[in-house]
Amino acid sequence: MKKIISSVIVIILVFGIQTSPVFATGQFLQMPIRVQHGPVICALEPQANSKFPTVGKQLLDETNYAVIDWKTKLNEGLGRHPVWNITLVQVPIGQQNGFDYTKCDITIHYLPQPQESSNGFIATGVTIPNFETGKTNIEIYYLDVQSNWVKTEWTENGQGYYQYVDKPYYTGLVATSTQLDSTIRHEMGHSFGLGHYIVPYDMLQNIINGLVDMPSIMIDTVTVLGVKHYDITPLDVAQIKSIYGSGGFDNQVKPTSGYQRVHLLSTDKQSYQPGEKITLDINTSTFGENSFAEILVIDSNNTMIENLGVYKSNSTISFDNMYQKNGNYLAELINPITGDFDFTGFTIGTPSANQETSQNT
Ligand SMILES: [Zn+2]
Repeated sequence: MKKIISSVIVIILVFGIQTSPVFATGQFLQMPIRVQHGPVICALEPQANSKFPTVGKQLLDETNYAVIDWKTKLNEGLGRHPVWNITLVQVPIGQQNGFDYTKCDITIHYLPQPQESSNGFIATGVTIPNFETGKTNIEIYYLDVQSNWVKTEWTENGQGYYQYVDKPYYTGLVATSTQLDSTIRHEMGHSFGLGHYIVPYDMLQNIINGLVDMPSIMIDTVTVLGVKHYDITPLDVAQIKSIYGSGGFDNQVKPTSGYQRVHLLSTDKQSYQPGEKITLDINTSTFGENSFAEILVIDSNNTMIENLGVYKSNSTISFDNMYQKNGNYLAELINPITGDFDFTGFTIGTPSANQETSQNT
């Protein structure tokens, strides 16, 4: 006899971590990212791709529309006195080497798929905060992602179980404009400080089946692949205003909750030889049984090298023989329930005096 655990495992991804907290109604997770003023978004024209010659222009155009959409919705009702400013700067390939990236609060890179395919990371896009610099890096992946529900079976105490797990994959084709447009709006939402919007299981099914519109653009993009209708909704706008107040990014109230640095993260050393074992310690003493946090490791180009989840019991993580490349790295922690975050730097090889902050990857 087989028992169904659940026909669909709800995947909650801020950065690809799979877990399933249960909420009776929809609610936002926390994302401890804040812009300090009306953000400057720098969109870097992608490298030419001979298979998809028009995708570069399409991505820049869609990004422009996404900025207009966010600004229009945030400023709705303000008539001729808009207070929500967002500046988009497009950086053509020819200008990317000498460009002054210090003015960019948010930088968008467009890639076919993740560069460092850590643990087969599949996403339509990712938002990578750098808590040291306070700046945010967005990567938009322009290859099409398809769902792939795989049945896995196992036996426990003589009882057979099965569940379906989504193992999405890149088809090799270019993404639909629905995937690109919704992902760009979604990742911008993260970069403004919105976490994922979690909906109850039944509602998610209705959304996937096209019976109900998405209540938020912040529903994890991979769980709603194929959903044609998406929008920045009044819920998203209200959540931004609950973070910053109604005066705009430039005239914001002090953050009260969902954004606090807590010291939870440490490495056993500050610098390592290439290939040396790195031990990351996470103080999980305040974690409840169902608490979790996400750990990212980013390099000096703000590329995500590592992304994994930690729970109360796995408070020590070791990376063995994985970091061969000299450079400065940042390990970061995000608790999407409380908004707590932390970060700690480490170096591989000879420590360099000043951290490279080249954005041009
Ligand atoms: Zn997301």
